[in-house]
Amino acid sequence: MSDKDEEIFREGLGFFAGPELRPVALALINSYSANSMWVGCDCQPTERIKPRLIPVTNAGFRRDPDPPQPPLVPHSDVCEFNQDPVSATRVRASYKRRPRANGILKFRLARGPSEETQVRKPNTPVERINRSTPRPGLARMLCELLTEARVQEINPEDHFPTLERFNAMTGRIKAAATQIEIADGRFLNDWIAVGLSELPALKSRIAAENADDWGASRPHGILLCNFHDIRDREIFFNNDQISPVPVLGRIAVFGEREAANRHPYLAICLIGKPDAKSSYPAVLRAYAHPCMNWAKWALTDSILERETIDAIQRCRFGLSNRDIQIRLTKPLFDMNVNMEGETQPACIPDFLIEVLSRPLSRTVVIETMGYTDTRYRNRKLRLKDYFTAIDLRRSDKLARLIHHDPSQFGSEDEAKREFYKSLRDDIISINNGTDQF
Ligand SMILES: [Zn+2]
Repeated sequence: MSDKDEEIFREGLGFFAGPELRPVALALINSYSANSMWVGCDCQPTERIKPRLIPVTNAGFRRDPDPPQPPLVPHSDVCEFNQDPVSATRVRASYKRRPRANGILKFRLARGPSEETQVRKPNTPVERINRSTPRPGLARMLCELLTEARVQEINPEDHFPTLERFNAMTGRIKAAATQIEIADGRFLNDWIAVGLSELPALKSRIAAENADDWGASRPHGILLCNFHDIRDREIFFNNDQISPVPVLGRIAVFGEREAANRHPYLAICLIGKPDAKSSYPAVLRAYAHPCMNWAKWALTDSILERETIDAIQRCRFGLSNRDIQIRLTKPLFDMNVNMEGETQPACIPDFLIEVLSRPLSRTVVIETMGYTDTRYRNRKLRLKDYFTAIDLRRSDKLARLIHHDPSQFGSEDEAKREFYKSLRDDIISINNGTDQF
């Protein structure tokens, strides 16, 4: 494709497109679709296979072939061609919090025996998930649990995992599980194993159930556990004494790029009998996401994000010497305030900081700049307006956006100093009410 065509597509159909070039871009789309051409998107520059954009006559691009043709490389989560209304609306809806009725949230993750056809696809590779792909049902349940149990709030002591902290966290997760109904009249807290040690008992309970008592569903439960690696459809633990756990069906892993291993991970696994004839339950499918450590299951998207957390924590210690307390959160759900913009991607900032002495004042949004390639960086930089708009939910101010951007400085030390300084200064001025950004 020529640079000129690319610019027309970008300015006429991309996320930041204005209306002027749209007719020109659509005319170009029509000539592409008339010739059955598709476009390899450059949003994943390090991938061997390019994500695809399929021209749709008079409409724009559809992001995936229909039906999907493996191997599929998802578009980057900062890809600007997120405007295919059908897939964008579906993707964005999957990142919203689910409505609760009387505080209860219904999840129907295990269907009846018809689901058997979906299990047992031993050749299916591990599927990569990012913000431009729909969030799987298991991931949605995990995010609801972690948010409700305040696991995504990161506190100063969370760098130092202890059994006591682990137990406090799992207690809060089980409390949050009382509000999730997994089949008619059955609540998740009775059917969850939080940690591998609780798995045998959960499996026995499921094995003892009569399938007819579960209505349209079937006996099942959920395992949450920390692990180190996935190889050959097995989950491996950071301890040779523990046997790997096989996963029979779909394994989805959150991660922007292919090779990087981001352990430790947190897995949410669906446990049930593979088919009506089986006598013993197994892991039917699983979703995995990098997390902080074994006693703090806050989901983090990359190794660089863990470095961002470290940098924020150092700043927080400095601020507490001045008696300024902050709340640090890693949000998991869409905060997009533009209700008409359903075709925009979900807006999920990397980190949020609130100054506790000024609870309704402005939020500081921290974005980790993960990669050095220019296109990725430019796309992320252009998302500024969309991140700073999150405070418009409650005030007429824009949130403050700071990039944690190690690659832009001569040395790591310089990068750390600069980040520390801008974060500290902004938080102090919010605390003092002198913020003029
Ligand atoms: Zn793309």
